[in-house]
Amino acid sequence: MKLKDTEIEKIKNWIRILQKSLTLEFEAEFTNILGKEKYFNEFLYDSLKNISNFRLSEENTNDIKKFSLRYQEYNNLDIYQRKRLVIDTRKILFKLSKTIESSPISKTLSNKLISLNSDIQIINGVGKVLKDNLNQLGLFNLNDLIKYYPRTYLDYTNKEKIVNLRPNNLYTCSAYVKKFYIYKSKKNNNLSVMNIIVFDETSSIKITKFFLGRRFRSYSFFSSQKEKYKPGVKVAISGKVKTSEYGRAFVDPQIEIINDNNLMNFSGKILPIYSLSESISNFTFIKTLKKVLPFVIGYQDFLTENQLKKLSLFSLSEALKNIHFPNSQLCLAESKKRLLFDELLILQIKFLLKKNRRKLLLKSDFHLKRALLDNYLNALPFNLTKSQKNVLEEIKIDLSGQNPMSRLLQGDVGSGKTIIAIASLLYIVERGNQGAFMVPTEVLAEQHYQNLLNNLNPLFLNVELLTGNTSQKKRREIFRNLANGQVDILVGTHALFEEKVIFNSLGLVVIDEQHRFGVSQRNRLLKKGENSHLLSMTATPIPRTLALSIYGDLDASQITELPPGRKPVKTEIISEKNLKDLFLNVESEIIKRKQVYVVLPLIEESEKLNLNSANKVYEYLSKEVFKKFNVGLLHGKLNSIEKNEIIELFVKNKINILVSTTVIEVGINVPNASIMIIYNAERFGLSQLHQLRGRVGRDSYESYCYLVTDENNTSTNKRLEVLKKSNDGFFIAEKDLELRGPGQILGYKQSGLPDFVLDNLPNNKFLIDKAREEAKNILKEDPHLEKNLIIKQAITENLNNKYTHDFFN
Ligand code: ADP
Ligand code: MG
Repeated sequence: MKLKDTEIEKIKNWIRILQKSLTLEFEAEFTNILGKEKYFNEFLYDSLKNISNFRLSEENTNDIKKFSLRYQEYNNLDIYQRKRLVIDTRKILFKLSKTIESSPISKTLSNKLISLNSDIQIINGVGKVLKDNLNQLGLFNLNDLIKYYPRTYLDYTNKEKIVNLRPNNLYTCSAYVKKFYIYKSKKNNNLSVMNIIVFDETSSIKITKFFLGRRFRSYSFFSSQKEKYKPGVKVAISGKVKTSEYGRAFVDPQIEIINDNNLMNFSGKILPIYSLSESISNFTFIKTLKKVLPFVIGYQDFLTENQLKKLSLFSLSEALKNIHFPNSQLCLAESKKRLLFDELLILQIKFLLKKNRRKLLLKSDFHLKRALLDNYLNALPFNLTKSQKNVLEEIKIDLSGQNPMSRLLQGDVGSGKTIIAIASLLYIVERGNQGAFMVPTEVLAEQHYQNLLNNLNPLFLNVELLTGNTSQKKRREIFRNLANGQVDILVGTHALFEEKVIFNSLGLVVIDEQHRFGVSQRNRLLKKGENSHLLSMTATPIPRTLALSIYGDLDASQITELPPGRKPVKTEIISEKNLKDLFLNVESEIIKRKQVYVVLPLIEESEKLNLNSANKVYEYLSKEVFKKFNVGLLHGKLNSIEKNEIIELFVKNKINILVSTTVIEVGINVPNASIMIIYNAERFGLSQLHQLRGRVGRDSYESYCYLVTDENNTSTNKRLEVLKKSNDGFFIAEKDLELRGPGQILGYKQSGLPDFVLDNLPNNKFLIDKAREEAKNILKEDPHLEKNLIIKQAITENLNNKYTHDFFN
């Protein structure tokens, strides 16, 4: 069978994308990661099935199809089976790439001119073994290699002798190994600790490195490390020097073996360190890359000379060269800035295009028979705040317009977003369409559902609740009535994503606590309608920088005030031994008929983590401290009936103290609760604590939040102090971003952003505005990107996202 060049290219491309997703899943330790559109296993199932689109031998096709089927079962496999499957898939794809390459035609391909798409084998010195190893990393052509940016750098420009090292500074030293030992931590079952003593002609110093994860406790890992750091081996160490009672030490530095044969002259340079497999050394990789790098001239720059000047950015080729081999830290920062700009520019153009593209196809032949919205608002026991009114007006204009709304509604905890959600849903139902109200937890779904039932006349409105626990019978009924348009509003959890959920005319999707969902999930729900409106709500204010890079396709509204009469929650940081005194206060509050939340990081005791658990604290509080009162226990392992019972008892004040895990974090609304006690507060992120704290202070009564921690280090204190000082969710989120970095706050699952962007954005906040502005300029002059073909190509092919998590479309 003869394959055409273009066919071979297509297959290779197909293989490349698959290999990349396999690599990512591997790195994510087989957790079935979520891409833009699909979960890893769905993506593999679908893509592998597509093998039949290529003209390949029946044998090859059938082999691969078998693999496709196995991905259907992926969720049921344990981690070892998953690993096996991923490795086997890699192998078979690898084999396939070999067979198509050995066809005579592709040989002639490589005689053509070298381009960025040329196979790496074209490079002098890349033999079969190295090629195979690079392929394993998902690197096939020159472009792949150039866009494989370093994981980190060793800065040899600040080189020092050991004797001169001062604590709390960053240094690089070259030294020799004197002693090596590695052991399993006794305190933490997941941790290994490696110590190396190194020396130079001036002195010696200890290096300590921590390895977290079971695989680092194996005998083979220990012996491989021992082999690596034999006495006498020369190493370069780069990192921070700290002091402890045992003297100075490098703690968790970068360590690189300096091999005299590798002729590497580090001094005064910044050495790139790549994520590589055991079979390729950093040195080999650098050597290969140096041969490839001259081809950077093959990239066409997105930006013209003028734009570069205006934005004061490096040219693309300059940036690509310097991201690998920077001459200085400044040069490195500039290169990152330029590459980040490109990512952001493409992202913003995508967002703007997406915004322009959507058109509305909803039913509009409605007869406004049911005055649902006005009746609802009139029946409320209070007036909307000014801010709520403004937001609702904005939304109403959108909902009656020609283009589908895509709106992000931000408002601090307790600012009254639920009412806006319900009002919007009613407005769309009045117009003859259906609404979906999507929430992250069952408890919250139930609460919203009840809220709708209680406030509306069931004669005029049919609301249903769908969660993972809805019975089969009820489910069938709901599906039927959704499809024939009988159900007006469907409230539910992730269950709404199910394929069987088919709407008759889905007009509006409301997503509550939207930071709990991925971008792909929201799109999946939207696809159930034909260009439905979207209202996405969040109380975890997203710092502006991030908001623009993630939700650039959404318009934003904000509720800027809390309902009148609210008092800021008084927040204290206390240690566990002071709890006894606190419990006395709690008692007097309960006697005044007020209620209390007690939140814990775990359900059950864990040997590994020295933390308080909900079970234990529940026992303690119910049987010892608060025997006189009713104490309830709530956590994710209860079934939905049990959960609802507990919540209902709490709502009715039949439970005085609710001991809970973070299942109460989002949305729960029991305004009578006035005390929140959070154990092991150091374990939670700031925004999360702010959310938890938002469960109290929901009426005009004075309320309190106690952050309990026994950790007494400056960073914990600094973090918790932020909460004590501020009640402003935006301020807290910005601090959280500063202290923990965006990756921690959003994780790529939510953000869908490339790591490269996540890592570099905080230091380049201003770039996002520039990119947005430039994207607007470009689209204004060239709305269909007919002149900016390279940009168009980057968008369609995701070329610029080579190792982003963008591989699912
Ligand atoms: P969140 O924005 O955190 O979702 P909720 O929608 O749960 O907040 O509202 C918090 C509480 O404030 C609820 O008890 C709600 O009834 C009440 N509320 C909402 N809007 C107003 C208002 N305009 N005036 C007084 N209370 C309000
Ligand atoms: Mg809410």
